Amino acid sequence: DKIIFEVSNLKKYYQVRKKSFIRGKEYVKSVDGVSFSIKENTILGLVGESGCGKSTIGKTVLGLTPPTGGKVKFGDNVIFDVENNIKISNSEMTKLRSEMQIIFQDPYASLDPRKSVGQIVSEGIKKHKIVPKGNIEEKTKEMLELCGLDATSMFRYPHEFSGGQRQRIGIARALAMNPKFIVCDEPTAALDVSIQSQILNLMLDLKDKFGLTYLFISHNFSVVKSFCDEIAVMYLGQIVEKGSAYEVYDNPKHPYTKALISSVPIQHPDEVKERITLEGSMPSAVDLPSGCRFHTRCPYKTERCINESPTWKILDNKTGVACHIY
Ligand code: SF4
Ligand code: MG
Repeated sequence: DKIIFEVSNLKKYYQVRKKSFIRGKEYVKSVDGVSFSIKENTILGLVGESGCGKSTIGKTVLGLTPPTGGKVKFGDNVIFDVENNIKISNSEMTKLRSEMQIIFQDPYASLDPRKSVGQIVSEGIKKHKIVPKGNIEEKTKEMLELCGLDATSMFRYPHEFSGGQRQRIGIARALAMNPKFIVCDEPTAALDVSIQSQILNLMLDLKDKFGLTYLFISHNFSVVKSFCDEIAVMYLGQIVEKGSAYEVYDNPKHPYTKALISSVPIQHPDEVKERITLEGSMPSAVDLPSGCRFHTRCPYKTERCINESPTWKILDNKTGVACHIY
């Protein structure tokens, strides 16, 4: 099982006015020491409440926003290694850009309404010279058809399509680049439930057909557990639990994971699980709680949790967890 994407101790801090001070500067710690790796042709789900930093991770690992710290490797290429002052050259990045794509949440906002679907899907094909000039139209049609759209869609405009169809256009645009790795940032969150599963099934088909690897960002635990091979649970800029989707969902360890799963409707009456209701809302990433960042909402907190941040432990079932209970 080859690791295709590797993130070590990733940090992304944004400067703010007067709140938290780091080396004399003021930051919001949106992503604060996140590590994970993804095996080729698998899906890692990054799950957490909105504002936990998951979208920021997606943008930072693709080099769309500069990192504050840490290292990202894609295949054998180091995209950046902040502590060792390494950053991939612009020309190298342009080459890799086509192999690392992103699909956005909002299929309405991410497609230019003034461009035809054909223009939208073929733009990257032209820019990155994916196929010879004479084959661009053929490649565009092929991508649309692979994504379940009629080839004649290329002559129409985004507003003529439904939300689900627009997301298919967004996927066709990403697929046209012959990517190896795709960051999917809540790709179905804006869609009706019935349409959601159609899009997820399409993404699974494409993954198998082209050997794709996904980083799948979502706030929806029930989507993540059925779609992903592995799950990483995020809270306030950090991963608090990570393991196989099966273990994390059926045998959650971290109190926050248990709370997120408690909010998923029970699908089978035999499915008896410890239920935890989350108290309060997520604190601001500008004013982080001391010790364990979850202590302000955790029903199991002790004195130690307030003073000491838990270290990462790997349990017998290979799940990793950051909590003093373990
Ligand atoms: Fe709760 Fe303490 Fe574990 Fe944090 S370390 S999740 S506060 S028990
Ligand atoms: Mg988001």
